[in-house]
Order: sequence, then structure tokens, then C-alpha cells
Amino acid sequence: MSVVLEAEQENPFEAVCRWIDRASAILGYDESTSRPLKHPRRCVIVSLPVEMDDGRVEVFTGYRVQYDTARGPCKGGLRYHPNVNLDEMKALAAYMSIKCAVVDIPFGGGKGGVACDPTRLSHRELERITRRYTAEIFDIIGPDKDIPAPDVGTNAQVMAWVMDTISMKRGYLEPGTVTGKPVPLGGSRGREEATGRGILVVAREAFAHLGMPLEGARVVVQGFGNVGWNTARLLHEAGARVVAVSDVHGGVYHPEGLVPRLVREHRDRTGSVVGYPGARTLTNSELLELECELLVPAAIENQITRSNAHAIRARVVVEGANAPTTLQADEILRRRGVFVVPDILANAGGVVVSYFEWVQDRYGYFWREDQVRTRLEDKMRQAFRDVMELSTQLGVDLRTGAYCLGVQRIVEARRLRGLYA
Ligand code: NAD
Repeated sequence: MSVVLEAEQENPFEAVCRWIDRASAILGYDESTSRPLKHPRRCVIVSLPVEMDDGRVEVFTGYRVQYDTARGPCKGGLRYHPNVNLDEMKALAAYMSIKCAVVDIPFGGGKGGVACDPTRLSHRELERITRRYTAEIFDIIGPDKDIPAPDVGTNAQVMAWVMDTISMKRGYLEPGTVTGKPVPLGGSRGREEATGRGILVVAREAFAHLGMPLEGARVVVQGFGNVGWNTARLLHEAGARVVAVSDVHGGVYHPEGLVPRLVREHRDRTGSVVGYPGARTLTNSELLELECELLVPAAIENQITRSNAHAIRARVVVEGANAPTTLQADEILRRRGVFVVPDILANAGGVVVSYFEWVQDRYGYFWREDQVRTRLEDKMRQAFRDVMELSTQLGVDLRTGAYCLGVQRIVEARRLRGLYA
């Protein structure tokens, strides 16, 4: 799922399977080894009759895909979006399995969702959908089985409802059943900035590898939401020069560098980064083509395509978003010598701190924010080095190397466990 084809009809699950095949071929695995990796362990589809505020009963469809449990319980988000469907859930669950293996946390992959438009639902309707969905998948989730987290259209409040429903049915508080909860309910400190902090760590490692100073480096960040804002802020604090940022309305550019905190204040006041005083306004396409040392696409998928990959003038691309680069664009960047840190490594900071949250919940002992940071930095640095080492050994780019590392770790666990029959 890390890279999608440009053809509109590309099935996202087939795209992941092609990466599994590619990694398996490089690693020399036979069909008997790779075939099971292309099948989710369990897919559950549930119907959710829910009473709406006006008294009507609507029936929503919910999904939970548990992809791989060789290395631990399933881990993956819960998405509320009208386009949620089984193939998308399977693809995202497979992708989570590989991502968790790349950063070496003891989880498999899962993903769930409800096909609905949360922007058109009231708070009470969202709560009823969430509780009914949770009740329907009650038997298959829990701290030792499958641990949901927020994703598109869900948030800490939705996780609190999932946790409460499970806890009421079990008869005791079960905080480790979800991550991304509010801190007063057992959430982890440092979760909010975790993905941005992970990006900072891998950017530092990439620059060190290339012998380039991060201090003073020109940085362009597309997207100014959770990932983009935290990335821009942390890179600025690390001494880099954030020359441009953007949101869905467009971007702002200043060659001397922007102060992300002030851009955020402007965004909070006006609803967009556009119009930030003293900066030049530009489109998202112009922003991606700015000359810079580091480009962080941190908005949505398919932003670097075969149409603009030739025009990218960044030396390093660190993928904050999921699948911001298409397969064709990836090849063009590689040929042009752009150093790309792939999404399945670069944006794994969020799931790493989710793992820390689960650990803290199980211990009932909570860490200070600086302890979370130090442990996150260690994990991300180690993951970057593991991916670099395997990529160098296999003579492949970092994206292929990351897929190989994830697949290799899953296969090793499966081999050691054997086939249960
Ligand atoms: P978000 O909703 O908080 O922010 C998204 C940002 O992108 C907003 O600033 C929005 O205005 C902008 N945007 C939306 N459409 C755009 C477009 N067409 N062009 C330019 N900008 C656009 O989302 P987020 O949590 O920051 O996630 C961003 C990406 O990172 C997504 O791909 C997500 O899957 C991925 N990701 C997020 C996390 C996390 O912890 N939040 C972890 C891993 C990966």
C-alpha cells in the first residue's frame, strides 16, 4: 500500500500483494512461503442497525480485518468514511503488519472501519454506531487479540467509547484494548506529536547518511494537520529552515524560513495557512516543485506522480503521508537520485507510541513525556539503521529494503511457530 499504481482501477490489496511478491522474490522465498502472506487471517463484516436522532433506523456496514498475528496481536486503525470497503481494509491491514514488523514492535496488522460519513452524523449518532460496532466485534478484539486506534474520521473520543463498551461488557476496565485514547483514560503522553517526531528522527538519520547538515537545510512540508504541523515545528526546533508549508487551500513560501508556530496561529485564526503575512502564496503543485534539501509530503496519497516527479527538486523526500508517491513516480525519483525514506518506515512513529501506550496500560504505570520521546527516538533510529543495512546488503532502494525487512521478520516468526494443523 506504500506505493500505488497511477491507474485509477488499481485494487489497493493487489498492490500490497505485488510488494509482498517482489520482496519474497528478492529474499528467495518459494511460493509456499509467500502465498500465506497474501491472505488475511480473518475478515469480519457486520451490519449495524442504529437509531438516528430523528427516530429512523439506518443500517451501516462495519469491517474488521485481522491480517497477520505471527508476531503478536493485530494493530491498526478504525476508519469512518463513506468509501470504506473490504479491499481497502485488507490492504491497510496488510500494510500495518509490514509496518509493525519494520519497526520491530510485537504486533501483527489489522484495520477496521464503518462505511459512513462522520461529518453528517451527530455526536450521539457517532456514539451509537461506535458502541454497536464494538459490540459486534467484541469477541475478536482486546489487548491480546486486536487493538484498534484512531484513523481517518475517528479520534480519541471514539476510542474512549470503544474502550468503555468493551470494559462494561467484560465487567472491568480494559484500557489496553485501544490506543490513541485521551490521556486521563490511559492514553500515552507524546502520542499526538509521535508521527512528526519519528519523521524528524529518520530525516536526521538520512541527512547524516548523506553527509548533509540538517541545520539550515531548506524544508518544504505539504499538509499542516497532525503530521505536517508537528513535523514542521520539530524540524524548525532542530535548526532546519522551513521555507514552505501548505494545507488543502494552498501553500505559503518564504525563502528566509517561516516560524511554524506563528503560521499555526494564523491558520487557527483564519482557517488556512494561506495569507500568512509576509509570505508568498503558492499552489500545492508549485510547493512540491520548490528547490529544497528536504520535502515532506504529509497530506494525502498520490501527490508525487509521473507528471511531477521529474520536477521535484528536493535532495531527500521523507514520506509523512501514506502512499504520497505513485509507483511510476518512485522509479523516476530513484533514477534521478532523490533519496526517499518510504512511508512504512518514515511515518511509523505513531504506531510505535501506540505500542508504548499498550505497554503502559498493561503495566498500569505511565511514563513521562521525555521517557516516551527517548524510547521513540531509539526505536525509529534502530528501524532506519535496520532498513539501511538490509537495503545495502541486498543492493536495493530503501522502500524495497523496508518491504523486505518487514516480510522477512513476519516469515521468520511464521517459520518458528510452524503451521498449526
Ligand atoms: P490531518 O487531517 O490532521 O491533516 C491533513 C492535512 O493535509 C491538512 O492540513 C489538510 O488541509 C491537508 N490536505 C488535505 N487534502 C489536501 C490536498 N489535496 N492537498 C494538500 N493538502 C491537503 O491528517 P494527518 O493525521 O496529519 O495525516 C496526514 C497523512 O499522514 C495521511 O496520509 C495519514 O494517513 C498519514 N499518517 C498519519 C499518522 C498520524 O499519526 N496522524 C500516522 C501515520 C500516517
